[in-house]
Amino acid sequence: MDFALTDEQQLIREAAAAFTDKEIVPRARENDRNHHFDTELVRLIADQGYLGAIVPREYGGAGLDYLTYAIVTEEVGRGCSAMRTVVSVQTSLVCSSIVRWGSEEQKQAYLPKLCSGEWLGCFGLTEPDTGSDAANQKTRARKTNNGWIISGAKMWISLGNHAKLALVFAQTDPELGHRGLACFLVETDTPGFGTQEIHGKMGLHGSDTASLSLDDVEVPEEALMGQIGDGFKIAMSALDSGRYSVAAGCVGVCQGSLDASVAYSKEREQFGRPIAAFQLVQAMIAEQRVLTDAARLLVFRAGWVKDQGRPSTTETSIAKLYATEAAQTCSHLAIQVHGGSGYVDDHPVERYYRDVRVTTLYEGTSQIQKLIIGRAETGINALA
Ligand SMILES: Cc1cc2nc3c(=O)[nH]c(=O)nc-3n(C[C@H](O)[C@H](O)[C@H](O)COP(=O)(O)OP(=O)(O)OC[C@H]3O[C@@H](n4cnc5c(N)ncnc54)[C@H](O)[C@@H]3O)c2cc1C
Repeated sequence: MDFALTDEQQLIREAAAAFTDKEIVPRARENDRNHHFDTELVRLIADQGYLGAIVPREYGGAGLDYLTYAIVTEEVGRGCSAMRTVVSVQTSLVCSSIVRWGSEEQKQAYLPKLCSGEWLGCFGLTEPDTGSDAANQKTRARKTNNGWIISGAKMWISLGNHAKLALVFAQTDPELGHRGLACFLVETDTPGFGTQEIHGKMGLHGSDTASLSLDDVEVPEEALMGQIGDGFKIAMSALDSGRYSVAAGCVGVCQGSLDASVAYSKEREQFGRPIAAFQLVQAMIAEQRVLTDAARLLVFRAGWVKDQGRPSTTETSIAKLYATEAAQTCSHLAIQVHGGSGYVDDHPVERYYRDVRVTTLYEGTSQIQKLIIGRAETGINALA
């Protein structure tokens, strides 16, 4: 077992860290304060190749392996979870789905635009009445002579207001249940497609979150990705990649919390000594270090399994469950180390704390990850 990164991976880590420190970190606080979705910064991230990291080069991607993708995502996540969400949605939920399930025409048509950042994509699975029970899609797709007419509503869709392409999951025949589900590639300028911004989020103020409405949206036959009945499999394979990316971003939050705690504790003095000299402060730092290392190793293991081409659903759920919960704890402890200063946004830990709260909710809640892991261990499906 080799725990070392390759020279190439180490160089990519250093480049991603430098980019994050130069471009993402300086903008994160203002974007958060102003609830600003920074499309200029998204373009810079795209220019680094981070929006198509795992997409083959022939389609405009960077052709990286999954483990290296985690390294890049971790660094972006250390800088800003809102921007990491862009990376996760665009790369994992949208691009990796098209790579795996798209026709050659669909890959040629969309992947180069998505990898270059010319277009953003979004992933429309969740609906107002359909969250964890993702197979229960109410959005309907009806066959016409030339294609399909899609009607319904989607909720909580990241990048939804800015996306030019939406993956829309819909039911083609309610009597077929999940075997009737299909996934459509819908261009968002199609008549009948509308979006509305969702306000009032606890965190991720620098990200874009929308509700989508589809009012008799007509799409051609070629908009169908995969076959009718593949919709649920497409959604689950997208989440296998997306959950991995969320987990990697959370390792970045763990590391950022730890780094900020170490720096502050060595600088801040109380009782005539740096607070780092107090054992109870060191205990908070040690706990963050252990959580960070464990989360990173679980993410790397899931990436290694993916790079072997082996099924990785269980390893991914373990990494997602652990890393997202670890990031909650690390950001919480980091605020404690900072005392009152941790309660305002002079330090990144306040934003980390608010931003990571969603990571145990989206792309499958922690409860859903436990049920996936429990199913793998027992062979019994307790999800429904
Ligand atoms: C900021 C943000 C961005 C998002 N981005 C996207 C996106 O881009 N695309 C997209 O499609 N969705 C997106 N989502 C939606 C997200 O994936 C859902 O919120 C999530 O899947 C949970 O669904 P829900 O909110 O309907 O909760 P519910 O499913 O209603 O769950 C509520 C509670 O019940 C628990 N629960 C539900 N079922 C079970 C069960 N069987 N056993 C035990 N406990 C259970 C849950 O764990 C949770 O604690 C986003 C959400 C947010 C907040």
